[in-house]
Amino acid sequence: MDRDAAVEANDDTDPTPAPKRKSKKAMSAMEVRDRRFLLEYIVTTGCRRIPWNKFFGNASKLALPYPAPIGARCCDNCTPDQFPVETIRLVGGSRLKTGRRHHAKVSEELAHEATEVLKTLRNTIAGRDFPNGYIITGKILMSDQIIEAIAPRVRDITSIETLAETVRWNWTPKYGSEVVKTIQTLLVRHPDLELEAREAEKRERAFAALQSLAQADLRKKLDPLFDACHERILSLTRPGGRAGQTERICQIFMALPRKTVRLSCLHVSLS
Ligand SMILES: [Zn+2]
Repeated sequence: MDRDAAVEANDDTDPTPAPKRKSKKAMSAMEVRDRRFLLEYIVTTGCRRIPWNKFFGNASKLALPYPAPIGARCCDNCTPDQFPVETIRLVGGSRLKTGRRHHAKVSEELAHEATEVLKTLRNTIAGRDFPNGYIITGKILMSDQIIEAIAPRVRDITSIETLAETVRWNWTPKYGSEVVKTIQTLLVRHPDLELEAREAEKRERAFAALQSLAQADLRKKLDPLFDACHERILSLTRPGGRAGQTERICQIFMALPRKTVRLSCLHVSLS
């Protein structure tokens, strides 16, 4: 915990909330020194006691009169065997979705642009939320590995949920929405042509289905009309030739003409 954070945490009496962003005021010489030694302590590949002793000025102090016991631990760089790395098992499961899924195709060009955009974003966030910081830099905030995982799946990322399913990034809850927004803005400039073609086809099919439905509907409405007309024509009669009987006008059309029919006959019966 750095000094500013410690002060804020202990200051329970102050009812006004602490400002979220620390002002970019210049660091004191003391702060600069603290941070320089802390950084050296963290990143050194040599003995960690060196920056430690330098920081506390131990060289000018009286040393213990006893030598270090044989086999004593020094530090994780000098005697790594004596500083076993703990195995940490995370419980709770990840939301990462693995296995075969359909992924929207991402062109190389788009993946490249996504990489650039995300690199810019991580530096923007680092500069804004971690000013004067050389410990939390853009690269620490969002590693190249994370970006490499996101770039080829950029079209799948439509929400914080899909981002969490795509990549295990510990800042997703805090900065996920910014990442999603940035990606969506990028995608506006890179519409998914394949998807658009598929959707156009789908719309066309839906329209055709609608049209045939409308036709079927029209047919259904017309059918009773046809039937009524048919019925009416069938029922038309006229006085027949023999013994005052009536005959249906349509009678002669009710059977196929005989092959031997003579046209003169037809003429007579129609007149
Ligand atoms: Zn050491």
